[in-house]
This record gives sequence, structure tokens and C-alpha cells, in this order.
Amino acid sequence: MHQTTLRRLLAFHAGLARQTAGTASFDTLLRFLLARVLDLTRAHSGSILIHDAQAHRLLPWFSSGHPARTTRSAGARAGARAKRSTGAPARGRGRPAPLPVDEGVAGRVLQTGKPLFVDDLHRADPSLPLRRRAAGGSFLSVPLQLHRRTIGVLNLNRRRGEASFTRDDLEMLSTIVPHLAALVEKGRLLAQLEARKDEVETLYELSRLLFSGAPFPTALRRFLTALARHLDLERAALIRFGEANPRGQPADGRLEAGAGPAFPAMGAAGRLSDKDAPAPGDPDDFELLAGVAVSKPRLEAMLDLVRRRLRRDLAAAPGPDAWDAPHLAPPVALPYKEGARQKDMFVIPLPLPGERIHALLVSSDRPTLDSEPAVQRYRFLHLVSKQLAVALEREAMLERIRADQATLLDNNLQSSIFLGISQELASTLDPTVVLRKAFDQFRRLISFTTISILMFDDLEKTHRLIVQPSRPIGLGFQRALRRNILEIFGEYPADPPLADPAAVRMEVFHPQDKGNGGAGGRGRFRHVLHLPFILGERVVGLIHLTRSEGPAFSSRDLSTTSQFTGIFITSIKNALIHRRTEKLAFTDPLTGLFNHRYFQETLAQEFLRARRYGKPLSLMIIDIDFFKKFNDTWGHLLGDKVLVHCGRLFEKSVREKIDTVARYGGEEFAVLLPETGLDGAALFAERIRRTVEGTPLQADVGSLPITLSIGVACTAVTACRQTSDLIQAADLALYQAKEGGRNRVMRYERAEVEHA
Ligand code: GH3
Ligand code: MG
Ligand code: MG
Repeated sequence: MHQTTLRRLLAFHAGLARQTAGTASFDTLLRFLLARVLDLTRAHSGSILIHDAQAHRLLPWFSSGHPARTTRSAGARAGARAKRSTGAPARGRGRPAPLPVDEGVAGRVLQTGKPLFVDDLHRADPSLPLRRRAAGGSFLSVPLQLHRRTIGVLNLNRRRGEASFTRDDLEMLSTIVPHLAALVEKGRLLAQLEARKDEVETLYELSRLLFSGAPFPTALRRFLTALARHLDLERAALIRFGEANPRGQPADGRLEAGAGPAFPAMGAAGRLSDKDAPAPGDPDDFELLAGVAVSKPRLEAMLDLVRRRLRRDLAAAPGPDAWDAPHLAPPVALPYKEGARQKDMFVIPLPLPGERIHALLVSSDRPTLDSEPAVQRYRFLHLVSKQLAVALEREAMLERIRADQATLLDNNLQSSIFLGISQELASTLDPTVVLRKAFDQFRRLISFTTISILMFDDLEKTHRLIVQPSRPIGLGFQRALRRNILEIFGEYPADPPLADPAAVRMEVFHPQDKGNGGAGGRGRFRHVLHLPFILGERVVGLIHLTRSEGPAFSSRDLSTTSQFTGIFITSIKNALIHRRTEKLAFTDPLTGLFNHRYFQETLAQEFLRARRYGKPLSLMIIDIDFFKKFNDTWGHLLGDKVLVHCGRLFEKSVREKIDTVARYGGEEFAVLLPETGLDGAALFAERIRRTVEGTPLQADVGSLPITLSIGVACTAVTACRQTSDLIQAADLALYQAKEGGRNRVMRYERAEVEHA
């Protein structure tokens, strides 16, 4: 080696050492290396091509004055703009397009791993794939090798008229090539790390938006906005294919439309009429979960393009079924035109196993002419889509947890309502009250215009229809409701069957809200929910809910109602049974009047009430005159008939639901008159006395006149410390009536009770 060559080489290495140490950018490093090598070899221009083994191509760096640079313009401009507006993945954007590995001289050098030396292009071997053969000059191409692995190619040119390259130049180059290769490799690794770091940082920033804790739709929108800004996208959208509203109907009940549809028809599917349209996954029907600068019609148009492309590409592949299996649905990168503008679109399905297909769709109005940044961008979008998938899965999980919590809350509420109803059940004897309370409680769970229960009343041996409106309903509404309920119930194999629908007794409770105005006066209700009540294997009743407005009943409403069906029916049944046992326990079997025990209990209640509210309470004790005579003359059976006869007359004479008539014992009766003074009670007693006197018993033995003696007492006249005081007072008055000649009414007028 010549002395001068050695000096130049030493200078070269010194320069490299000085300048490469602080060079972080791969681009800068290569340009610097190239300049130094040109300097060293006195070449006019040159290039370094780095082998991208993954993408199977060569990435070129051209020196200034290189013929390739002067012919390049559009790509450089696009690249420069992209570099300005975007961040990390833009590495190399300002550079020319990559070259195929199996073309040109560089391709050959890369494949053979051997240098190529041409001292005059004009006279070069015609089989050599030299591009600028006509320009003449000399040419050198050496492989950049590292541990026998070719990582790139170094090309050097000297123009025509300049001294040709010599074997010496090649020799000198071979001494620096390993060094260059090492630097290039190190630079490339650093650049990759740098790009990854940027990528990772960007992904991290994006993911922070996604998992920020903001409401999910907001987080998604922010995420897409940041992504669009980062990748210089025109539009970005997250879409979900398939049905927008899953339907499900529990087996034990039905949701259906009344006058209007409970479930509006789903959006018309099948805009694509071709029979090979991708129908199975229902890609026609999609939801826009979040988007930047997109509208649904725009998306439809874009997806249509994607579909056409997919159909063409997947003709031999799984075809439309690809939409059914997310892992098969390929990402689609698609250049397309919108009007006159050239655009670029990328659709990537999100890996969400078992879920409906989600896809990330982005488009750019600055199509990448250069495929390298495009690949980078897609790679980045893949990473983004994975993150999105994780976020969506997480959100679905949170949704499930939230639903579980709601169920828990519901359960708590239901428990408290159940408890409330059982307490009501224990505190009142009136089945109507129990049911009303149950309906009131139930309204805390579901909104309705009416709730109705149709069921068989075992006591009365008839079907009863009980309706609780939430607000006043007109007669038209009531009629429509009755018709609807009977129609529905008629379809069930009811046991006992509904023999005569016209005979069903319909009881409409007072509306829960009175001031809200009438609902559906024209007899219209929009939504209906109903389910049969089944005991054992018998359909014994029907629960029926309507809504005049608002949302349709959901399957959750149905399950809540079905949980409450039991308590409604039990409420009614218990109350009815209660009433029956109560009837048995408190009824005198001969006359059907209340018995002595019931009389005592009612007296105790009324006594307290009268005292609390300062109201008078009167009591009459009735005794049939010479009753013994009936027994003795015509026998006990006739005596019984006299008792029954009198009992009926008493019941007829008193105020229903206010006064209590009881058989006090033997041929004595008691009538309790709340909120009645002594005068009123005496008048009442007189009317009874006269009624009985004027209504003889028509017996086989003839017409038998009956007379009564009645004693009347009142808490407002006579001070009573306890119930027995009032009884004692009335008894004393009765005694006076007997003493006075019978068939008469006597009042106890004293302020204090005389005790025997
Ligand atoms: P007075 O005008 O003084 O009330 O005379 P009385 O005969 O009505 O009075 P008394 O108390 O002497 O007679 C009541 C009779 O009523 C005695 C009893 O045998 C009869 N008796 C009580 N319970 C029944 C019943 O359930 N059926 C029948 N047939 N008789 C009864
Ligand atoms: Mg008597
Ligand atoms: Mg008597």
C-alpha cells in the first residue's frame, strides 16, 4: 500500500472516530460515512444500500451529486412533509423508495457477496445490469460484510473523464469495509432501538388516554384523536360489526308489542344484494363506537370498498366466513380515490376472541408513495389495535362487573321490598291492602302504566282481575286492557279454565299517582309484558304490565317481574286464606255473624281508637224476649231459626263495614257502633227493635212474632276505663229494658258505671 494511501486511511479513521461517536441518527451517520468514503476514494458520487432482510429490500442512501437524487422529486417532497408533521415512526421518510434485492448491480453484489469493479462503463460486460451504462465513467460496488453476513452494499462512481477506479482503490476499500459495516450495523441497531423507544413512548401515551378512567366512549375518542394526530391521519374510527341490539326472550315469559312494537325492527340488513356478499358475520350492520372526522355514511362507503376488495382477495380463501372468525379476517390496506383525491385506507380487525368483530379503520389523504413508512405505520397500527383490543376486553369485563353490581343492588332492593311486603302481610287482614302495598313497592323496581293480576279466587270460586294503575286510566283503556288480558290468558291451558270471560270480576284500584292526568284515554298502551303464573303444573293466573310511553320492557324487567310474581300471588293467596281462617275463627257458625271472641277484639280496637281520637263509641246489647219459649214450644231447631232470622235482620240494619254485629252468646247479640253518640245509637236500636217486631219468622207452624229488649250505652256519656265498663253499662240498660216490660230500648245515661 502506498504511503499516501495509508496516510489518507489514517486520516479517514481518525475522522470516523471523531464524528461517529456523537452521532445518534442513523441517517446522519450514513450520510457522514458516505461523504468520508467519497473523500477517501475520490469518488464523484456514491450510495450505501442497507439490506432490510425482513422486508426483502434495499434501503438506499445517496450522496450529493448522485444521478439517482436528481431524478427524484415527488417522493422527496411527500416524505419531507410527512417528516414535518409526524413523530417517531417517520424514520427514513425523507428518503427515496427502497429497491428490490434481486435487481441491479447492488442486488447482484448483495447476493454474491463479491465486489464488482468496472473501470469503464462503456466497455463493461453487457450481461451486467448496469443502469447508467450510457453515461460512462467507472464504478465500484462492494458488499458491506459483518461476520460473513452481508448487511448492505457500498457503490462508488467516478464520472467519464475522471481517472478510473483501480485495483488499489478496491484493496483500500476492503480494509475499511468491515469497519464501515460495524458502524452501519451499530447505527442501525441504535436507530431501531430509538424508533422502538419512540414507538413505545407513543403507545404508552396513547394507552394512558385509553385507560385514563374517563368514560369509555370519551377515552376512545381521545385515543383516536391522538392517534390521528400522531400518524397524520384524516379519519380514524373504531367500529363493531353485527347486530346492534342483541335480542333474547326468556322461556317463561313473553315480551311483546301492544299497540306499538316493543322492539323496533333492526336496521335493514343486506344493502349488498350480491349473493356472495359477506353475510354471515353481518358486516353490513355495524356500529361506530368512536370516530375522528367520520360519519356513518362515509364509513359505509369506505367499508363497501373494503368488502369488494376482500371478496376479490378472499375468493379462494374462507371468503365471507372470514368475518365470522376474527383471526381470519385480514387487515386491509387499500389505496382509493374519493372524488379526485387519492387516499389511503387501513382496516385492521381487533383480536377479540369470542366477541363480535371490532375493527380499527384509519385513512389518510396523504398516501404514502414510499412503502417503508407505510409498513412502519401498519406495524404501529397493529400494536395500537392490540392495545385497543385489550381496552375493549377490559371494558366488557367492567361492564359485566357493573351489571353484577346492579344485580346486587337490585337484589338488596328486592330483599327490602320482600321484607316490607311480608311485614304488611302480617300487619293487616285486608288482602286488598296487602296487594296495594306490594304494587307500591314493586313500582320502585319497574315503571308501568298498569299492573294487573288475573287469578282464580278459591274462596269465591271465580276468576278475579285486579288492576293497579299508576295514574288515572280512562274507561276505554280499561276495556282494552281487560280484552288484552283475557285474550292472552285464553291462550293458556288454565286450570281451572276461564269458563266465562264476561263474568270475570275486574277491580281497578285507585291510581298510585292521582294528579298526573289520564293515561291512554283512547285505550292505547304501547308496550306489554306478561307472564303466566304457574303453581305446580297448573297455569293459575297471569301477571300483566303495560306502558303507555317510554322504553319497551326489557328482559331484565321480565326477570324482575317473574321474581315478584311469587310474592304477588302469595300476597293475595295469604290474604284470602287469612280472611278465610279469620272468618272461621271469628264467625259464629249458626248465624254467620262474628262470634264473641271477634266482638271482644274489635271492641278493644275500637275502644282505643275512640279514646285516641276523642270520638264516641256506642254499644247495644240485644236480647230476644222470652226466647226460652220458642225452644220449649217448638223445639231447639226452631229456636235456632229464630236466632238466624234475627241475625240477618240485624246485619241488614247496620252500616256495612262500620258497625260490627256479633252473637254475644245464647240469644244475646251485640252491635258496636263507632263514632256514634248515645242518641244516635238509641235511634239505631229502636229501628232494629221495630224491624224485628215487624218481621215475624215465617215458620211451618205459622207466623211467629219476635220482640227484642235492647240496652244502649256510649263512651261519650258514661266514663269507661275499660271495655268491660261499656259492656256493663249496656247490660245494665238491657236489664232496665227487661224490668221495664221488654220489647223496648233503654239508654244508660249515668256518667259512671255502677258495679255490682
Ligand atoms: P228473657 O225475656 O228474660 O230474656 O227470657 P228468655 O227466655 O229469653 O231468657 P233465658 O235466659 O231464660 O233463656 C235463654 C235460653 O236460650 C236458654 C237457652 O237454652 C237458649 N239458648 C241459648 N243458646 C241457644 C241456641 O244456640 N239455640 C237455641 N235453640 N237455644 C239457645
Ligand atoms: Mg238472655
Ligand atoms: Mg232472652
